[in-house]
Amino acid sequence: MRSATGQSATSASNDEIRELQLNRLRAGLTAVLATNAFWRERLHGVSGWDDFERLPLTAKSELLADQAAHSPFGTNLTHPVDRYVRLHQTSGSSGDQPLRWLDTEESWDWWLRIWAEHVYPAAGVTAADRVFFAFSFGPFIGFWSAFGGAQRLGALCISGGAMTSEQRVRNMLDMGATVLMSTPTYALRLADVAEQIGVNLSAAAVRKTIHAGEPGASIPATRAAIEAAYSAQAFDHTGMTELGPTGFSCSARDGVHLIESEFIFEVMPDGELVATNLGRWGMPLIRYRTGDRVVVSPEPCSCGSPFMKVVGGIQGRVDDMFTVRGVNLYPSQVEDIVRRYPQVVEFVLEHRRERRMDEVALLLETASSDFSTERLEADLRQALGVRLECRIVERGTLPRSELKSRRLVRIVGS
Ligand SMILES: [Zn+2]
Repeated sequence: MRSATGQSATSASNDEIRELQLNRLRAGLTAVLATNAFWRERLHGVSGWDDFERLPLTAKSELLADQAAHSPFGTNLTHPVDRYVRLHQTSGSSGDQPLRWLDTEESWDWWLRIWAEHVYPAAGVTAADRVFFAFSFGPFIGFWSAFGGAQRLGALCISGGAMTSEQRVRNMLDMGATVLMSTPTYALRLADVAEQIGVNLSAAAVRKTIHAGEPGASIPATRAAIEAAYSAQAFDHTGMTELGPTGFSCSARDGVHLIESEFIFEVMPDGELVATNLGRWGMPLIRYRTGDRVVVSPEPCSCGSPFMKVVGGIQGRVDDMFTVRGVNLYPSQVEDIVRRYPQVVEFVLEHRRERRMDEVALLLETASSDFSTERLEADLRQALGVRLECRIVERGTLPRSELKSRRLVRIVGS
């Protein structure tokens, strides 16, 4: 189902997409409901959109509870376990237990095809490119699917696993990499390291960067900082371990198109994105609450894509929202101001709740010790309408990750 505001396509292609979605859903669900205990308990068959809209929503907490009760994989299995060929798991970065996810040969093929047909081409990446993956290649699915998808495209794939940041910078340059894959924060971290060791990244061959894990590449100031550091174009990509690769940013680079030929997307009244995948039937998700907040563009995109576009990418996680003196804010709004200051190397929002008062401080690591926070505080106040106290902390003390960075740290006081 498309939301009422999601009319980004012409009505003809819109109808075509809806028909394709319904056909794929009906065919897939028939097989799932024959054998998959998790969905048999929750669903009935679907013959039309009315049926679909009556299906229950599914939350991550239900999946975690199911895997805890039926360890290790839970009951969302359409086939016996020996039919599956890959196991991945979420990072557990939000404090939850990691969620385990299995893929069959067919569903893995579906992942790679989406990368090769949608995400890479939208960024202009081709078989002639050399793609450098600045990731550790742990159990998280994003590294492996992006790597396999680039191989499917015919590009030369270069793993940056088990390297220090300095080794990654040198390797990327020595191998003549033309595309960098990393989180937005880590791309800036590599740029910072390059500067420290006297390497000029903007003279390197990198011409495109693709980012996921955080909304950064859709945040104007962050995208501008990455593009300046690499003399490259930066693109956003969205996806989730349990769902699949859901979106990509196009040549307009002002938002993320949601891949409606492979998913059904719905936007709830509060802005939460709900998704149903249409090609991962070994362990599918139907009407899954992503926890991500989005705003759908009412205008067709200049790139001509028939897929709906979410403005500025994912605005934030529903559970990342914080309140300062009655104003609801997302870390991405703060990031868009902070990243206009190239002297800021790292930052974290510290949310303290004391005596029922919300206090939020912005902790900053800066490149030079004489950085004054005055102008930044004024910019934040003007853009957000509230005062945020800025505090400079010692270089190297804030947490760093090549996976998604936690921008909001909550501390509960007395
Ligand atoms: Zn577009």
